[in-house]
Amino acid sequence: MRRWSEVAERVSATTRTSVKTHLLADYLSTLEAGQLPIAAVFFAGRPFAEVDSRTTGLGWATISGAVAALTRLPADALAEAYDRSSDLGLAVADVLEQAAEVRRARGLPEPMVEPPNLAAVATAFAEIETAGGAPAKADRFADLLARCDPLTARYVVKILTGELRIGLKEGLLEAALAEAFERPIGAVKRAGMLTGDIGRTALLAREDRLDSAVIALFHPLKFMLATPAENATEIIARLGPTAWVEDKYDGIRAQLHRAGREVRLYSRDLHDITGQFPEVVAGARDLSWTGILDGEVLAYRDGLVMPFVALQKRLGRKAPSAAIQAEVPVVFVAFDLLALADPAVTAAEPRAQALLDRPLSERRHLLEALALPLADVGGSFALSHLVSVDSAAALERAFNDARLRRNEGLMVKDPASAYSPGRRGLGWLKMKKALATLDCVVVGVELGHGKRHGVLSDYTFAVRDEATDRLLTIGKAYTGLTDVEIAEMTAWFEAHTLDRFGRYRTVEPSVVVEVAFDVIVRSNRHNSGFSLRFPRIARLRPDKDPAEIDTTATVEAVWSGLQHGAEQLVTAGHERGGREGPAG
Ligand code: AMP
Repeated sequence: MRRWSEVAERVSATTRTSVKTHLLADYLSTLEAGQLPIAAVFFAGRPFAEVDSRTTGLGWATISGAVAALTRLPADALAEAYDRSSDLGLAVADVLEQAAEVRRARGLPEPMVEPPNLAAVATAFAEIETAGGAPAKADRFADLLARCDPLTARYVVKILTGELRIGLKEGLLEAALAEAFERPIGAVKRAGMLTGDIGRTALLAREDRLDSAVIALFHPLKFMLATPAENATEIIARLGPTAWVEDKYDGIRAQLHRAGREVRLYSRDLHDITGQFPEVVAGARDLSWTGILDGEVLAYRDGLVMPFVALQKRLGRKAPSAAIQAEVPVVFVAFDLLALADPAVTAAEPRAQALLDRPLSERRHLLEALALPLADVGGSFALSHLVSVDSAAALERAFNDARLRRNEGLMVKDPASAYSPGRRGLGWLKMKKALATLDCVVVGVELGHGKRHGVLSDYTFAVRDEATDRLLTIGKAYTGLTDVEIAEMTAWFEAHTLDRFGRYRTVEPSVVVEVAFDVIVRSNRHNSGFSLRFPRIARLRPDKDPAEIDTTATVEAVWSGLQHGAEQLVTAGHERGGREGPAG
């Protein structure tokens, strides 16, 4: 692990992509089969492979408790070190250095420990995951840390907290694998897409078996994402001459796998959510195909789609009661077919053939041929509403129609496009006029007033600066969440507080919120250089990772786009009161 950390350090020290690739390729090519997949997954910045839904469940409190117990330094040593760098990995390394200095000053011997290799670190991560409860997790983590020198500890913590940040995009890691084992980059990418596991891909590249990668049922594939677009003429120019237009449904994205009588549902962040939607699962169990659907789960009753707030009542409930299922029934709106039974395989082990490379038009044709039992005749499925357009005017009309149906916008798709898992490609564009929300991460919270006295109900949130990867604050809002949600979030923020400044406290930047606002203005009130007029929390986005929040570049683009209308929207004297917390 020490060698891995040294390579990471060198990769981080250069901004040149080609140098990063060579450094990685040199290192990866020397690894044995047992170490290579672990090294690759760690370089992807994860303790476990992406398709592996395990999480270690280590939060700030557990990490800082373990560091304090190990070093016997005061608990705030870590908070102070964190304030200096805003990097937990660096902060932990700093505190370990301090502890070593104290030992040296007292003439105490260095502890004799065997440094962990990659496999030992992977084993420790698995043990932290299975350990029940924070104290047991802290023990496992402290054991691991005790064996690490500061540099290694720094990278162990960076991986554990998902904040590797050494300027390594997935594409670069794939390029390094191609170079290390002299394989075509296209073959590496294809295998990566199918396995969803860079470790497994690395092994296949090493063994020259990339062609054998197959789509695995009951292992979620990454979801294809859409690129935002506003201008109808540009959209048609990009996707035309004919573009497909689908409603953009406001539910939650889900992937449905089925084979035999086994059915599983996965969320956008690749977690198994099968238990949450028993009616969809029961409806799918009686069908007769083997394959993978992509779609959106929506609340739907008496022939009408219910608003997202209704669906929210269903979210997070592992086993919804009959009463809640009757109050908020759900359907699965399918819009894509990613795999279908491989007719050549009759073995007991279910196998499906990937359809990702086929054009959308063919995938849709096969999807329609499945004849899913539709909701309007008592089934639990629907197909996305689809029309073809061949001019900007027709697209504008479709957009206005969607708005009249109270739809937030449209998805415009190229019928010739392939399905690219995990990519925000140009094959799918999401058309939303005047972006009315930003996805931000909460960096600070404050106790509320009046009815909200005693709960952490005021949130300060930030966007990401792409150039420096720093989080820059953009606003503060009183939540639009329910009392139950506020109470749950208060408990979470209590457990993930980093530092306190009177009523205001900084918190671990993990909670993604969708913020609605009227206007963006340039202002030095927040360190992003922008602030929002009438910001309000539209909803929590537990399905979004903090890495996916909006960037300062998006804010800049929205700001310039809104310049025109800003004058009419801002009415003097409507500035909201309330003290701003320190910029986080
Ligand atoms: P956003 O969450 O704003 O990035 O928008 C993309 C999301 O829209 C996808 O992840 C889906 O959850 C959702 N969506 C709704 N309707 C569709 C559709 N017809 N095709 C693809 N995605 C859709």
